[in-house]
Amino acid sequence: MSCHSVKAAALVENRHTEMIDVESIRRDFPILGREVYGKPLVYLDNAATTQKPQCVIDCISDAYRNVNANVHRGIHFLSQEATDMMESARENVRRFIGAGSTEEIIFTRGTTESINLLASSFAQAFLKEGDEVLISGMEHHSNIVPWQIQAQRYGFKIKVIPVTDLGELDTDVFRTLFTSRTKLVSITHVSNVLGTVNPVSGIINEAHSHGVPVAIDGAQSVPHIRVNVQELGADFYAFSGHKIYGPTGIGVLYGRKALLEKMPPYQGGGEMIKRVTFDKTTYNELPYKFEAGTPDYIGSIALATALDYVNGIGMERIAEYESELCSYAIDRLSEIPDMRIIGTAPHRSAVVSFLVGGIHPSDMGTLLDRLGIAVRTGHHCAEPLMDRYGIPGTVRASFSLYNTKAEVDSLVAGIERVRKMF
Ligand code: PMP
Repeated sequence: MSCHSVKAAALVENRHTEMIDVESIRRDFPILGREVYGKPLVYLDNAATTQKPQCVIDCISDAYRNVNANVHRGIHFLSQEATDMMESARENVRRFIGAGSTEEIIFTRGTTESINLLASSFAQAFLKEGDEVLISGMEHHSNIVPWQIQAQRYGFKIKVIPVTDLGELDTDVFRTLFTSRTKLVSITHVSNVLGTVNPVSGIINEAHSHGVPVAIDGAQSVPHIRVNVQELGADFYAFSGHKIYGPTGIGVLYGRKALLEKMPPYQGGGEMIKRVTFDKTTYNELPYKFEAGTPDYIGSIALATALDYVNGIGMERIAEYESELCSYAIDRLSEIPDMRIIGTAPHRSAVVSFLVGGIHPSDMGTLLDRLGIAVRTGHHCAEPLMDRYGIPGTVRASFSLYNTKAEVDSLVAGIERVRKMF
């Protein structure tokens, strides 16, 4: 059955609202049928990467089988077909995040490359010694280190919005951080550790009232909540394909055209030029100015298929389902003695971080793994946040549309079992 018909079948009428038929969805994801250590796989590491539905897997192999040719360069049939498919994928991404134009959709390798591109080109265009960039205390390293690298080069300062005990941004302090030297705010939409959904709309309004643009790390939001960059007023927005059922190696940087036009290219090479001579090179128009070299066109096409898959189910429905699952997980985990949940903000997404008594997160993760339960342990690429809470790391369970309450029960039973061993 094709993914499209599976999607239709996955929606069953349930009295008042259409609910997700999770068993039908699970059949779209072949890997979920796997066993590890002789146990059914319970995959709760979705914030790291999601599994892929059959339609995405098929799309990649069909594209290599039938339409593979380098894009944008050839006048031959296959090259034009591959180019059309890549450009239609760009249009698909534009619609998915509500951008105004495909010129504002830059394909990258993922969130990390998107933010590195942004930091490098934005700093070169707009930042100088003494300027200030605001980030937050709950950022992933990929929204910290690229700014530090550029700060060393250009001499601007990085100021940090603090995180409260609940795991929210301290918006009162945030308002006091603006000065005449503030040039950009770059924050995450959803924390990959705490699950907190940050009030990005209010943050953007506040920053804009000071004339400061805002970049959003959407790695953990785009897969879980409907994002519309124009409604939010975001100036830049980054996300990764692999976290939204697409392939690895493809991601997106959205940027407002007026800003992108003022920014220099990130990398040089083929595709990003208009004319090259040894004396002077002129650059291509948007978005190609930022896409040097052969792009991952197959990745773009497969990402568009993943977005179609999500649209076929409906982002609102996915968000509702995951939110209910996450609340159930928090309730069930809270029954465990010595359970400490890190991040208790009321507005949250499908991530739960926790510690149990004095059990080291990596011991917990290793023992859960033996039970077939895949969770993440460690600092989750957010070491400053770990320092904020005075902990070395956490165990993190992160959910997706194919997870079930029965899997949450398995997690809870697994944790109880590990607890008894200590
Ligand atoms: N930001 C956040 C909030 C993330 O969770 C991640 C991935 N863990 C990233 C950025 C980096 O994403 P990628 O590794 O796909 O570039």
